[in-house]
Amino acid sequence: MRRVTLSFDNGPTPGITEQVLDILARRGIHSSFFVIGQKLLDPKAAAAMQSAHRVGHWIGNHTLTHAVPFGDCRTAAFAADEIGKTEALIGALACPKKLFRPYGRQGTVGPHLFSRASVDYLNTHQYRTILWNAVPGDWRDQAGWVERCVEQVSAQHWSLIVLHDIDNAALPRLPELLNRLDALGVVFEQDFPPETVLTEVGQVVNLDPTYVVDSPVMPIVQTSNA
Ligand SMILES: [Zn+2]
Repeated sequence: MRRVTLSFDNGPTPGITEQVLDILARRGIHSSFFVIGQKLLDPKAAAAMQSAHRVGHWIGNHTLTHAVPFGDCRTAAFAADEIGKTEALIGALACPKKLFRPYGRQGTVGPHLFSRASVDYLNTHQYRTILWNAVPGDWRDQAGWVERCVEQVSAQHWSLIVLHDIDNAALPRLPELLNRLDALGVVFEQDFPPETVLTEVGQVVNLDPTYVVDSPVMPIVQTSNA
């Protein structure tokens, strides 16, 4: 049995996010929306986030500006701005376990993802840092992303898929994707595969040291796979 967790990044986008919510509601699927802080300054975007939260989706923090990875600006002040100011904008809609997802630059992983200062900030402030394990490329390949997503889901037991509630991304073919996943017999989850949870309750749990640009080997606390 394959498990699938959906996540929607880089919104909220007025006019798009609401339609994504309608599609998910018809299927009874709960997901997470990793929002960009500066977009929340638009009241319509903030309202879309509130709608998502109201029906049970989780709201996560996906940086303030989504422009410079932590590996390219390693100061503590930058980490605090990008994470803390977004969390303030999310406010009371945050999960009890505050969720954070780094800016990956085209969905790639590598040493650009984190600085030591950003990991320290996430641990000090008790964030649950969430990566991904399926990036089908909805924002760059309308023709191919659904098929790629089905392949990625088929190849692993539990997929955490990154989609985007922005223009020209997942929305036009989201119903088709969900039909394909139903045909595969997947079970939709809201929580995240353990290997995609990098930090929680103030410590690193699964963060590969090679994702931290200026880190010596970081202590890794093994989590159970249960
Ligand atoms: Zn993003």
